Amino acid sequence: MNATKNCRICQTEKPLSEYNVKKSNKDGLRNACRPCQRNSNAEYRKTPEGRLVRAFHQAKGSAKRNGVFDDLTMDELREAYRVSKARGCPYCGEEIEDNSFSLDHVIPMSKHGPNTFANIVICHHLCNTNKHNRPVTDYATEESLDVLMRDTFMRSEKKMKVWEIVDMFQSGEYKKSN
Ligand SMILES: [Zn+2]
Ligand SMILES: [Zn+2]
Repeated sequence: MNATKNCRICQTEKPLSEYNVKKSNKDGLRNACRPCQRNSNAEYRKTPEGRLVRAFHQAKGSAKRNGVFDDLTMDELREAYRVSKARGCPYCGEEIEDNSFSLDHVIPMSKHGPNTFANIVICHHLCNTNKHNRPVTDYATEESLDVLMRDTFMRSEKKMKVWEIVDMFQSGEYKKSN
């Protein structure tokens, strides 16, 4: 029996103990050795797609904890990213860098804002931090609100505007997931 395996990434013959388990593979082990796997994960997390995937899972967890409505898909998040890359940060209008963007809920989930396409934007990490949990009506300038509403309206198949979400939030309709 062969007690070594060739790592697909570093092309080095290594003992089987150097590989993590992956049941779906024929030999029950990963194709990349542990150091290579760790490295590629770290590299992947730095890519826009890796950041989006991470933000997606964090948002799902946060939605659950806050008990808010949640129907966001990964494709919708990619679309939000694409829009902000093309148009700039929805809060300040500056270009979005690939290494420092974040997913923001226009109405924070802690304030019962839903985790749904119409309530999310991709913005600067810093702009997100500055916003904290203040509702968008407190934070955004009239101009950026206008951009947010237009974007949200165009992006959402549900054709909801930020103001409609604000109304739903105020009426308590989005308080608990349905
Ligand atoms: Zn390797
Ligand atoms: Zn910004």
